[in-house]
Amino acid sequence: MRVLITGGAGFIGSHLAEELLKKGYEVAVLDDLSTGSEANLQSLRGNPGFSFTRGSVLEEGVLSPLVRECDVVFHLAARVGVESIIRHPLGGLEVNIHGTEMVLRLAHKSGSKPVIFTSSSDVYGKNSEVPLKEGDCIKLETVYSNRWSYSCSKAAGEFLAMAYWKEKGLPVLILRLFNTVGPRQTGRYGMVIPRFITQALSGEAITVFGTGTQRRCFASVKDVVGAMVRLLETLVGSGPATFGHVFNLGSDEELSINELAEKVKVITHSASPIRHVSYEEAYGEDFEDIQRKVPNLERLRQFISYNPKYDIDTILKETAEYHRRNPSSLPKSGSGEPLLHASRAGRR
Ligand code: UDP
Repeated sequence: MRVLITGGAGFIGSHLAEELLKKGYEVAVLDDLSTGSEANLQSLRGNPGFSFTRGSVLEEGVLSPLVRECDVVFHLAARVGVESIIRHPLGGLEVNIHGTEMVLRLAHKSGSKPVIFTSSSDVYGKNSEVPLKEGDCIKLETVYSNRWSYSCSKAAGEFLAMAYWKEKGLPVLILRLFNTVGPRQTGRYGMVIPRFITQALSGEAITVFGTGTQRRCFASVKDVVGAMVRLLETLVGSGPATFGHVFNLGSDEELSINELAEKVKVITHSASPIRHVSYEEAYGEDFEDIQRKVPNLERLRQFISYNPKYDIDTILKETAEYHRRNPSSLPKSGSGEPLLHASRAGRR
């Protein structure tokens, strides 16, 4: 089976490519390298089952033959990271909505190829009635804040995928990934674990945004891609009843960002101070954080066996080891640097 991974040079996509090749699949990666990197694919070069095309999901001429030649599409290409979306909302909306529509349309046109669309826990928005179930309400916010455009763009992608399933019978699955972490994730787009680890390793202050009482569940990318491949094996080819589903995917072990900062300090044996930074200083005005994100994993477990192997301590040790071996990932800025100075889109 030949699998096309859009966004396959990114953090999750490159781990998925590796896992699929290990299992004997052929893998074609399409990536415009806007946030992904060829270095992520280095170990796959030379594998006869692997090919890489540099290009965007917005380029029909590039995407079309790749979809035609594959048996199934993992659609991961997206603009990622709260920080980068606040800074460039338009690019995010274009790729996440128009790019997803393009993938679905071409998959439909090329003989109804199954599409597994990776969405995000961000679509739950401000719904913090945890654990969050796939059918729960998505609580999105004002259009005056760029912050919610990522959630909205991913939700729009989900509506598009569901519409292709319901109206055209295109076999689609939607995966809502909760905080996925591990080696190769960069802190450049704001993600907390690579930022804390690189700050701790370089002796800079560990910057906790807000009070640090907000909570997240972090899953190892290895557990996550393992589940993605099992879903592919279980669902694709097993009939239409399995399609048109949304699955939460991640870990359901919660910890606060303050606890995370303490753990990172201990695991990296760092003397870095922990510094609390206001959201305004970190992201600019009009930023609202999501307080809690915990997935309900029942539906996933109805379809595949899913018992994450990596707990948070193991994940942090492994990720710290990766950043030690790749010192170029360490920040060059001073510790007092805000994450960004967002321009104000408007006031409520
Ligand atoms: N965060 C932080 N310091 C940082 C980067 C992020 O305290 O240097 C916080 C962020 O405000 C959020 C949490 O860590 O509350 C997780 O952030 P991330 O962007 O990794 O994931 P998301 O908010 O999208 O779940």
